[in-house]
Amino acid sequence: MILPIADNWFETRRYSDDITLIYEPHVIPDIHCNMWHVRGRDHDLLFDTGMGVMSLKNHVALVTEKPLLCVASHSHFDHVGGHHEFDNRIMHAAEADIMTVPTRDNTVISDYVSADIFTAAPFADFDPDAYTITAAPPTRLVADGDVIDLGDRQFEVLHLPGHSPGGIALWESATATLFSGDVVYDGLLYDSLYHSVLEDYAASMERLRGYKVETVHGGHWESFGQARFVELIDEYLAGARKPGCPID
Ligand SMILES: [Zn+2]
Ligand SMILES: [Zn+2]
Repeated sequence: MILPIADNWFETRRYSDDITLIYEPHVIPDIHCNMWHVRGRDHDLLFDTGMGVMSLKNHVALVTEKPLLCVASHSHFDHVGGHHEFDNRIMHAAEADIMTVPTRDNTVISDYVSADIFTAAPFADFDPDAYTITAAPPTRLVADGDVIDLGDRQFEVLHLPGHSPGGIALWESATATLFSGDVVYDGLLYDSLYHSVLEDYAASMERLRGYKVETVHGGHWESFGQARFVELIDEYLAGARKPGCPID
């Protein structure tokens, strides 16, 4: 099947509190990630950058307004394809080697990317089988408890391994806002990737359960509040929230 060429590769949706969602509508909902842009006084924050098949800088003016701190929730292809476009690249050390030498295997492209995940092509002659991630070694490594400071807003790094070894979430205590990456979102959660560790995932979930959140902006699907947050964590810990075990 020949895919139509997309008019606009990116769409944006403005939330309250100077937070904007950027996503790729022509990648199926199971796969396209949520890229979260937060305006700050001195820096803006961009948490994840999508598949990288089109330039964020050329197509989303928002990401060029201010000096940007570009943070990777983890190294899977759906989240880090655009990181190479930005000078300030922040991530956890445990996946720095992957972003330094990304392959189709270590970024899980070979497991998930085929023509089937696209409803339109980003450009003529786009070849899903040739798709790769451009190397984007981190310029700053963060560990649990480190703070990413935008000047007027501070985000604490939570290291939450399990889905992947270097998975992080960002916690803004002043607003009780959690950017949770692929650790928890309102959809099926993946803990059987090549570098997933079940025990770590469960421990990360148990830790998160202690947070009182106002809003969770996940790495995929819709945002949610405290009641759904606890429900999703409890469902995961009960073994229900996994591929092949849909409970929706
Ligand atoms: Zn992932
Ligand atoms: Zn993902």
